Amino acid sequence: MKEKRSYVIAGNWKMNNNRSQTKGLITQIVPLVPQAGCEVVVCVPFTNLETAIKAVSGTNIKVGAQNVHFEKSGAYTGEISAEMLIEMGVEYVIIGHSERRQYFGETDETVNLRVKAALNAGLTVILCVGERLPDREKGLTNELVALQTKAALIGVTAQQLDKIVIAYEPVWAIGTGKTATSEQADEVCELIRSVIRDLYGDEKSDKMTIQYGGSMNAANAEELLSKPNVDGGLIGGASLKAKDFAEIISCAK
Ligand code: PEP
Repeated sequence: MKEKRSYVIAGNWKMNNNRSQTKGLITQIVPLVPQAGCEVVVCVPFTNLETAIKAVSGTNIKVGAQNVHFEKSGAYTGEISAEMLIEMGVEYVIIGHSERRQYFGETDETVNLRVKAALNAGLTVILCVGERLPDREKGLTNELVALQTKAALIGVTAQQLDKIVIAYEPVWAIGTGKTATSEQADEVCELIRSVIRDLYGDEKSDKMTIQYGGSMNAANAEELLSKPNVDGGLIGGASLKAKDFAEIISCAK
């Protein structure tokens, strides 16, 4: 099954790096990953997108944003539309990251609206789902992750699904240094795959790229990425160091 899927390793820089640091970090990453056996993406702050796009020109690295608004234009002060991202040459966008759900009022409903707007404009979506620690402790992980996945995909066609990567990110593992065990990661990625199977059938579910995210680093990436249902990673902290990011990429073949 795994050979049917493309690995995607994406760095989520969050609110880090100015423009000269962006150019510097990408310039360091480029020569380390020319033979990558996976899609390589860097998701940078809005203000660094143009710099990043110039810096990756002619390389195998793609650029993503970390959020997008669901309307095309209008009175939405402070927001950026999918069309604006496309016009710049952005190819990916992270949607529904737990930090957006936790600090910026993102809900399953707005995640769904953003997913559809991004797909309609032609972006590839990295859709984040994952449980908080109290949810896991109450045994609610599977129900919650299944619900988040289904809610995010309402109205998404089977054809559009080809432009979605799902990132399973247990909230308790993000930025905490507490990685899920590879068994825990695989189990929930498999659950997500079964949700896709129920909604879209076997072929789509076999082809779906499902990442793990949450304190993935150069030391634990090989084990996590070897699991049958884990097809890549969404990497926060470790994506800010070229060598660490490249080592993770080298594990994704
Ligand atoms: C993330 O921000 O999506 C993430 C997984 O962060 P970290 O790797 O730092 O846990």
